[in-house]
Amino acid sequence: MDCIFCRIGSGDIPATIVTRNEHAIAFRDLHPQAPTHVLVIPIEHVASTAHLSGTDIARVLGQVTALAAQVASDLGLGDAGYRMVVNTGPQGGQTVDHLHVHLLGGRQMHWPPG
Ligand code: 5GP
Ligand code: ZN
Repeated sequence: MDCIFCRIGSGDIPATIVTRNEHAIAFRDLHPQAPTHVLVIPIEHVASTAHLSGTDIARVLGQVTALAAQVASDLGLGDAGYRMVVNTGPQGGQTVDHLHVHLLGGRQMHWPPG
């Protein structure tokens, strides 16, 4: 599988792993856009939210957002707040075709996003 996030998941490519469970893995983004920038991916390869249908959407997004929320809590971001972002496809700004949630925190976020 020629997918960098699958290869991070299997330990093929090194990454700073924050935590993992049976469904998802959280690791530090290589190019952090905030003091805390963690990516949370499903262990199973799913290209994007556009590649899921029916109850799979709720299941997979539930698994990754649950771990992202746990990481946010563990890293002490709960009170100040944080942002979760899922980019999908070219216009969504997705550059790695393995579904991931960005967990961003530690600075003031702005709206609308760029
Ligand atoms: P996207 O633009 O697809 O929403 O986000 C992809 C993210 O993956 C980017 O924030 C980018 O910095 C990060 N990234 C790309 N390659 C690697 C890598 O090899 N290791 C890690 N830890 N992050 C990566
Ligand atoms: Zn993958």
